Amino acid sequence: MVPFFFASHWSLSVLFQSLFQHRYAAHRMFTMGPRTERALHLSAALVQGSSYLDPRAYAILHREHHAYADTERDPHSPTHQKNPLRMMLHTARRYAGLLTRRISAEPRFLGGYPEWPAVDRLFSRWPTRIAFGALYALFYRRFATRRWHWALLPMHFVMGPVHGAIVNWCGHRYGYRNFESRDASRNTLPVDVLCMGELFQNNHHTRPASPDFAARRFEMDPTWQVMRLLARLKLIRLTPASLGRHAEPHPSPVRRDDGTSLWASPSL
Ligand SMILES: [Zn+2]
Ligand SMILES: [Zn+2]
Repeated sequence: MVPFFFASHWSLSVLFQSLFQHRYAAHRMFTMGPRTERALHLSAALVQGSSYLDPRAYAILHREHHAYADTERDPHSPTHQKNPLRMMLHTARRYAGLLTRRISAEPRFLGGYPEWPAVDRLFSRWPTRIAFGALYALFYRRFATRRWHWALLPMHFVMGPVHGAIVNWCGHRYGYRNFESRDASRNTLPVDVLCMGELFQNNHHTRPASPDFAARRFEMDPTWQVMRLLARLKLIRLTPASLGRHAEPHPSPVRRDDGTSLWASPSL
């Protein structure tokens, strides 16, 4: 039971991160109705629990990563950090500053992400994070049958940062490249079931508006398959997100320095 719970929490957390915070909030690769958006937002919060990522802070941080990938201004680059822990501490400080709005971002990185203040505030508070941690511990107390099961428990508390460390460290350090790019991005796994497609960093940095992170025949991006299914069920639309209601105050897609857009293109 414990290994199943761990595998489910791992894969669902990273799936929601890839689908909701990354592809929807940061890149606007699809649109959906307001009720579906709220359902997805709340599901992401409940699934990610202790390590819920505020979509606004995540989106700004991630857009900064694309704009400054592997330069000194990248919020998380293995090129400029000694180890994954230091890189994530550096990232966590910036994330916290953006969350509390102590740090103000460049205007081009603002807007176009979903905001639900009640949920975002509640799930970013320490008492809520600790309450989720207590629920995970209760589950282990009831179902752990082997000693080594307990070694998995702390991972549930920091699932989001662990995924972030794997993707941002390995995805810019280990693996192969399909495209030449100015950054150090790589594709770590050809079939990325570990991080639901997030480890296709080289493909994604080269084509940041493409909702399918796989680029070659042998590559498979699980989150893209989920998006196709959701689109077939008419829960989401793979259309230019700039037409969505969140775009109104900020109608211009975020542009990279090379002129390409971080948002989905109308040709989808
Ligand atoms: Zn990257
Ligand atoms: Zn991205």
